[in-house]
Amino acid sequence: MEGTEDCCVKVAVHIRPLIGDEKLQGCKDCVTVVPGKPQVQIGTHSFTFDHVYGSIGSPSSAMFEECVAPLVDGLFQGYNATVLAYGQTGSGKTYTMGTGFRDGYQTGLIPQVMNALFSKIESLKRQTEFQLHVSFIEILKEEVQDLLDPASAVKADMPNGHAHAAKVTVPVKPPIQIRETSNGVITLAGSTEVAVSSLKEMAACLEQGSLSRATGSTNMNNQSSRSHAIFTITLEQMRKVSSVSPGNNCQNGDMSEEYLSAKLHLVDLAGSERAKRTGSDGSRFKEGVHINRGLLALGNVISALGDEKKRKEGMHVPYRDSKLTRLLQDSLGGNSRTVMIACVSPADINAEETLNTLKYANRAR
Ligand code: ADP
Ligand code: MG
Repeated sequence: MEGTEDCCVKVAVHIRPLIGDEKLQGCKDCVTVVPGKPQVQIGTHSFTFDHVYGSIGSPSSAMFEECVAPLVDGLFQGYNATVLAYGQTGSGKTYTMGTGFRDGYQTGLIPQVMNALFSKIESLKRQTEFQLHVSFIEILKEEVQDLLDPASAVKADMPNGHAHAAKVTVPVKPPIQIRETSNGVITLAGSTEVAVSSLKEMAACLEQGSLSRATGSTNMNNQSSRSHAIFTITLEQMRKVSSVSPGNNCQNGDMSEEYLSAKLHLVDLAGSERAKRTGSDGSRFKEGVHINRGLLALGNVISALGDEKKRKEGMHVPYRDSKLTRLLQDSLGGNSRTVMIACVSPADINAEETLNTLKYANRAR
């Protein structure tokens, strides 16, 4: 069986173009891509990754094809997978993942995942029965929040000004809990799992959760930069297989069924900038610390997984250090596939954070 290749974590860098604000400030481009190589230079530093996508337009289909399509294929073979968008606020994580409703649902990796998923299902549905579920949650201050809670769905239909009034009437639900079954499967108790049977239904979940994320706080920019948003697709399949020998599928009497279940987490991580830059009042600082806890734990987990020697020695992988890593535990490492997309701004004013992001991503390889 594959899945035990040298490294189970692939790292790509996505450099967005200079955006309006940066151009207005007269920013210069300070990130260079070495032509023909997945290599990035900033100042005197040089880093090599699995892939580098330069500042030309929207997330290209190349990024999807090279980084994410193999994970979608793996789902059909029963492999869990995780795609992580990492980077400072404003670096293009939401744009890259397609978790922002305002950008429409056509751009970004999640819509491309949906397209690929449904066309594959279409081509296989004669011999296989499929069931799809979607959940969409957010981790803020080490608490899991449900972005698909039907009780808050009303908000999506209401003009912004009424969103909060609608929210107050919703009874408080018990907190969502991360649980582990005896065979190591991580589940979320108390979060909404929506059964979907079409691309349209799945896109509606993405839209609803994205809207809910954007309107759920008094300060939408802050909330979405401080929380991790996780869109999860679970694919279950019941495949009819010949119980005599594979390849001999003409004898109906000898058919048996094979069940497979796998999930794909698509994660729009919290902004990686330092807590000190997000303000210094008590409560915000605590949130900053918690976010750092998730990102710190993630960095430690991924780096432990990437270190083959440590893995062979059965080194402890610190999944339990944060809600984020706990939730992703069965989809990071082992037989699962992980892609981290480090998003960076090319602007010289962001050089320090860009360098931090590249260092973090480099450690993941
Ligand atoms: P983040 O989620 O990391 O805070 P966003 O995805 O919201 O960042 O991106 C910040 C801004 O940059 C948005 O206005 C977004 O539309 C723009 N942007 C991000 N990536 C790209 C890109 N590849 N091409 C064009 N504009 C982009
Ligand atoms: Mg964002």
